[in-house]
Amino acid sequence: MRQWRASRLGTRLALGLAALSLVVFAVVGVFSTIFIREFLANRLDEQLTKTQQGQVGPLKDNHGAPLQSYGWFTALFQVRDGVASPMELGKLPEDFSQLQKVATEATATEVLRTVYVRDEGLYRVRACPVDKPNGEVLVSAAPQSELDSTVSRLIWIEVGAFAVALGVLVLFGRIVLRRGLKPLGDMAGTAHDIASHDLTGSPELPVRASGSGGGAEVEELRTAFNVMLEHIETSLAARTAANEKLRRFIADASHELRTPLTSIRGYAELFQYAAANEPAERDAHLAKIRAETARMSVLVDDLLLLARLDSVEADAPLRLADTDVVELASAAADAFRAGHPDRPLTLDLAESAKLRADPVRLRQVLDNLLTNAAVHTPPGTPVTVSVRIEDGIVLRISDEGPGIAPENLPRIFDRFYRVDHSRTRGNGGTGLGLAVVNSLVAAHGGSVEVSSGPGRTTFTVRLPRGR
Ligand code: ADP
Repeated sequence: MRQWRASRLGTRLALGLAALSLVVFAVVGVFSTIFIREFLANRLDEQLTKTQQGQVGPLKDNHGAPLQSYGWFTALFQVRDGVASPMELGKLPEDFSQLQKVATEATATEVLRTVYVRDEGLYRVRACPVDKPNGEVLVSAAPQSELDSTVSRLIWIEVGAFAVALGVLVLFGRIVLRRGLKPLGDMAGTAHDIASHDLTGSPELPVRASGSGGGAEVEELRTAFNVMLEHIETSLAARTAANEKLRRFIADASHELRTPLTSIRGYAELFQYAAANEPAERDAHLAKIRAETARMSVLVDDLLLLARLDSVEADAPLRLADTDVVELASAAADAFRAGHPDRPLTLDLAESAKLRADPVRLRQVLDNLLTNAAVHTPPGTPVTVSVRIEDGIVLRISDEGPGIAPENLPRIFDRFYRVDHSRTRGNGGTGLGLAVVNSLVAAHGGSVEVSSGPGRTTFTVRLPRGR
């Protein structure tokens, strides 16, 4: 089917070429025929003139033995009172009335005519006065049949040659075009194969346009086609990965939400039984319900924030204002000291580090990192916060805790990733803290990285100033 399409196009192109050639051949044929005919007719006229010039004398002397070619007629006429009568000198056809007529016209000056002589055919006739006072006119007639047959032979030769040329053109043109169009047919085949391939399952496209030949243009098309396929493949892979990420995110979120919900339901039932009994027990259940609810709302807030940061208008959740990171860091440090009086906190701050940013969200970054430094380290672990002006603004939060194992470092910023699930969930962590940090810093055009070893874990946040 594909091959057939390509070949049909090849045939059509070849036929188009033939039609064009036909027009060219016709024009060339017509003009060359007209030119040759004109040329032969002129030569006949010249021959007639030359023959006549040398014939008056011999004709008169030889008394009717003119020098002439085969089929020619030459005769002297005497024209009197508009009537031409042959002078019995020369040779005339049986019906020479047409020659007579031409003779009558030529008493004053020479005349050239083409006339039909009965039983003889078309004749080119030249008449010229040779003795004006006596009214003598020399008439010579040369047959045109030779000229006509030459021209018609030429026409036939031309028609034959053009027909052969056309046939060869169509045949070879079709072969050449078919060969040239084959790569296009192959590419169409590749496109068909891809169209019939289920792209929802695997984003990998089964084929590429291969082969060679077809010239630079086809090669260019093939390259562009393959680049396009690669592009589609990359986009499909990215979409599949994004879908997979979203699916995992939803599954993790549901799982995370189910845990506090189950707890709340459990405590609510306990509360129902305890309500009749001990008030202290009842209050304890109520406090647990409150704590789980608070954890859930933190989780939901984080989820909502991440979803909004993921949206196309990444800037949307940010309320930019002139912000001093130094001020934010000292405020966060104060809050940390108040919340964790047992942990020594050292500040190493530049004089000021101003930029356009969302102060609330940057504070959230600081709080999340400081909370982690408190939650995932033993009591009494020293923590350092530094703000420096380097390439941009560089914020470092370090602790001297046990650190994060190297195998966990690559996934540390993933959503819902926790190094030790059971322990950290107990700490109230959602596994979203660092993911939120990462997304917020990215939304500010910055980057965050971690380096960790036993006794030193440092989170480095780099923020560009030119926003
Ligand atoms: P979580 O809510 O569990 O704190 P995060 O995304 O904030 O979630 O952190 C992911 C994991 O990274 C934590 O579970 C913890 O194991 C590890 N982590 C983060 N900060 C530190 C730190 N300063 N020291 C050691 N481990 C850390």
